[in-house]
Amino acid sequence: MNIILLGPPGAGKGTQARFLVEERGMVQLSTGDMLRAAKASGTEMGRIVADVMDRGGLVTDEIVIGLIREQLETVKANGFIFDGFPRTLAQADALADLLAEKGETLDAVIELEVNDEVLVDRIVGRAAEAAAAGQPVRADDNAESMKVRLMEYYKKTSPLIGYYYAKGQLTKVDGLGEIADVKAAIAGVLG
Ligand code: ADP
Repeated sequence: MNIILLGPPGAGKGTQARFLVEERGMVQLSTGDMLRAAKASGTEMGRIVADVMDRGGLVTDEIVIGLIREQLETVKANGFIFDGFPRTLAQADALADLLAEKGETLDAVIELEVNDEVLVDRIVGRAAEAAAAGQPVRADDNAESMKVRLMEYYKKTSPLIGYYYAKGQLTKVDGLGEIADVKAAIAGVLG
């Protein structure tokens, strides 16, 4: 089973993806994690994407599609959870092609619906918690970058909701409840 978790920054995609990894043995493909790893290891790609990411903008389709292609070609899995990918219509089309090439299907697109006001609070809260615990704070977890991330989401990613709805693949899940309730709702969708 291959699924996409869709939703704005701070919607809880990463949290829910981790549950699916633990409980279903699926493999999480987070382009955000891949890009942060590239940034941290100082590769050429990491240097190219660092500024854009830190400001909250989207990295080019070419780069992220390349990252996903590489994973799909090399990783064997029972199922993939696409977390933070696709984020543009071009990425969605590329994913459809990549899956088709492998003879794989896309089984569900789960949109985590959240109220905009909670998003900034969650992100700023996450940064404060990390700082208090002496952990590193994501360079883009600040109010300024968060505004750009939300704007990028509404301009470039939210059209994917209509795209997958039209394909009959979209299921909406209330992302505002307790983590366990959101988890149960997702389990209900996946069966
Ligand atoms: P969040 O969902 O919390 O905003 P992610 O960890 O998914 O964060 O992504 C962090 C950043 O990485 C994005 O703001 C963007 O700069 C970059 N990024 C991640 N995935 C993509 C993608 N599919 N296309 C373009 N840029 C991406």
